[in-house]
Amino acid sequence: MLKLNSIENIQLTSQIFLKPEYKIHDTVSGNKFRKLKYNLERFQSGDFEGILTFGGAYSNHISATAAAGKAFGFPTIGIIRGLEVSNKIELNPTLLYARKCGMNLDFVTRQDYRNRHDDFFNLYLRDKYPNYYIIPEGGTNELAIKGCEEILDYQDKIFDIVCCSVGTGGTLSGIINSSFPHQKIIGFTALKGTFLKQDICKFVKRSNWELCQDYHMGGYAKVNLELIKFINEFKLEFNIALDPIYTGKMMYGVFDLISKGVISDKDKVLVIHTGGQQGIEGMNQYLKSNNLNLII
Ligand SMILES: *Cc1c(COP(=O)(O)O)cnc(C)c1O
Repeated sequence: MLKLNSIENIQLTSQIFLKPEYKIHDTVSGNKFRKLKYNLERFQSGDFEGILTFGGAYSNHISATAAAGKAFGFPTIGIIRGLEVSNKIELNPTLLYARKCGMNLDFVTRQDYRNRHDDFFNLYLRDKYPNYYIIPEGGTNELAIKGCEEILDYQDKIFDIVCCSVGTGGTLSGIINSSFPHQKIIGFTALKGTFLKQDICKFVKRSNWELCQDYHMGGYAKVNLELIKFINEFKLEFNIALDPIYTGKMMYGVFDLISKGVISDKDKVLVIHTGGQQGIEGMNQYLKSNNLNLII
């Protein structure tokens, strides 16, 4: 059931190669599938009704979980942040898609959503949806990291530097765990860093990594004209779509660090394209309503 498409690194420049993780499954995109993989195995070996998880209105993880439910035939429930979103489903490509995949969307107040780790809220959910396998927001848990340890393979040993976008840090942790000792792993944060470093330290045993916090561009899901321009130029040059939340910012950072000489031109660099292109449509709605250039 959990067969992945085989993928090959794509050469971008004499020193940069891209791993197209967005191609590993036809509908369940990129790192979110890696993170689901062993959770799906655990789910299937147990006696669960379906999978319940959490996310914002444009979440890649919600989209991927819904797609997995449809592809593999199990019920999914998405606990979505923000009651106000519930009357705007028709305008939201992510939620429309999730609903089309059969996901049952349950909107909660932002306050309740903040309490999603609390026992009381979890008891309430377990009562409302008995016997559901629960995956946390963003999909990060031990099994998710195990899945992300399969992103790098032996042939990637030739690279000196591996770059990846960071949300919760689960994907980066998996990559660090399966990296080679001579490699440096750089995580580009998509949000203003908080406790990320400590979170990642809980999951990894190595120290050949660092976080680069210089390219979140104002914070999670914030964009600027320069980023949109970069994403569009990248698409024209390489025919690869970058998403504006994660991979676009990381790639912008990689090119910037190389142009500044922070990453030496002698280093062979592998960038992980973790997917997320489903978010482009929602971002374009926002850009359009603000009369800004769209992502092509
Ligand atoms: C979720 C996501 C990330 C971040 O993954 P984490 O494991 O939460 O750090 C990176 N890129 C894309 C495209 C994502 O959807």
